[in-house]
Amino acid sequence: MKIGVLGAGVSGLSIGRQLGKQHDVELLERAPVHGGIARTRNAEGIAYHVTGGHCFNTKYNDVLDFVFKEILPEKDWHKIQRRATIKLSGNELTYPIEYAVKQISEFDNDLAIAITRDFLAADDDHHYENLEDWFRKKFGDTLAEQYFIPYNTKIWNRKPADMSPGWVEGKLPIPDKYSFFKGLISNEEDKMPHASFYYPNTNDQNTFIDNLARGLTIVTNYQVESIVKKPNGKWVINDEKEYDLLISTLPLNILPSLISGTPNEILEQAQKLKYNRVTTMLWETKGTRNTWTYIPESDNFFHRYIHIGNFFSPAKNYSITEVVGEKTYDEMLENGRKDPFLIRPVDYHVSGHAYVVFDEHYKSATEAIKNHLKHIGIYTLGRFGEWQYYNMDVCIKSSIDMAAAITKEHSISA
Ligand SMILES: Cc1cc2nc3c(=O)[nH]c(=O)nc-3n(C[C@H](O)[C@H](O)[C@H](O)COP(=O)(O)OP(=O)(O)OC[C@H]3O[C@@H](n4cnc5c(N)ncnc54)[C@H](O)[C@@H]3O)c2cc1C
Repeated sequence: MKIGVLGAGVSGLSIGRQLGKQHDVELLERAPVHGGIARTRNAEGIAYHVTGGHCFNTKYNDVLDFVFKEILPEKDWHKIQRRATIKLSGNELTYPIEYAVKQISEFDNDLAIAITRDFLAADDDHHYENLEDWFRKKFGDTLAEQYFIPYNTKIWNRKPADMSPGWVEGKLPIPDKYSFFKGLISNEEDKMPHASFYYPNTNDQNTFIDNLARGLTIVTNYQVESIVKKPNGKWVINDEKEYDLLISTLPLNILPSLISGTPNEILEQAQKLKYNRVTTMLWETKGTRNTWTYIPESDNFFHRYIHIGNFFSPAKNYSITEVVGEKTYDEMLENGRKDPFLIRPVDYHVSGHAYVVFDEHYKSATEAIKNHLKHIGIYTLGRFGEWQYYNMDVCIKSSIDMAAAITKEHSISA
């Protein structure tokens, strides 16, 4: 079978590797090089994650097997212990904040007491009106107001009260009352998948991305502009390339407009989907032992620092500052200069699609579009292809599962 894969980010490359074992697969990529938003750019010899810092880990054994056995052996990665911090009222707390109440009591006893009181009193009835309600019911009012609501307002560029909680389960460590209490009297730690993570020994994530792309047929600088289904069932791209089966990793808000004959109601649903860009700046910095820092305070321009130099072995003093939305170089510089930790700007970037926004439309709009794509026979995959908050490992997992489903379906119909 001749299979066309639209987009050569982590998802396109992964499904290409899976299906390329049995089929003739070709990837079409608009950019001059594969890798999508996970790709780094070399800046003064530093791997600059232009769309925000990335680390790799997973809870899925089949993803680990695929990565370590087929892509980059485990010996070619080093493992890093996460040291994440949160800046609150000028103080640095260890992440996650619900285990840092003891640290908060060292500078604000009343706040620590209010957090404890509200956490223990929170009544989680599992019915959530919106994301703000979810934070209040999971963590209590004080933690919600001091950290979760302001931080999430920054990263989503909208109020959690106007967002759906659909994406958040499984993304945050949620202590029960017993482990919260243990956190007060001991040094309780979270057990999230990213409590430790892997980074390639070359100190550049592109080693992983390039190995993922190895051996694949990728047509770069190729923008998909039109998709037509012929009466014989074959797919034709840009009036020239023909495939028996089509897998798209292109953003779900754009894909329907490229397909000839898409009904108006689907085009309207696609227009309802919202996403955010992210602007980043790479800096030479003073030293830190942390891997990243969350900044909920609304008067601080940035929402996160990724101390990328600490992903490297040996470590170097470089960090990436991130802010959601499209910001100018001068805005990044001016705000970065307020923090003496950031010594010198090195590089700057504004992304395309970075975060999907889970507003009131996302569920019904994505369902309508996906049902339509299924009906016409296009497979859609990946962070923006599925319109989900996927990390690289979940993109890989999704591609493993999709490849298995396609193989099964076509061996039955053959
Ligand atoms: C700020 C930030 C931090 C992150 N941190 C982490 C992390 O620490 N760990 C982790 O595992 N994941 C992280 N992620 C998530 C990770 O980046 C994504 O899950 C993954 O890279 C998505 O891959 P994809 O292939 O689905 O999408 P993409 O990388 O977007 O790939 C889609 C491809 O399609 C191409 N394309 C688009 N339109 C066209 C067209 N018309 N014609 C041809 N080609 C086209 C694009 O150029 C792109 O290459 C982070 C994401 C962000 C935004």
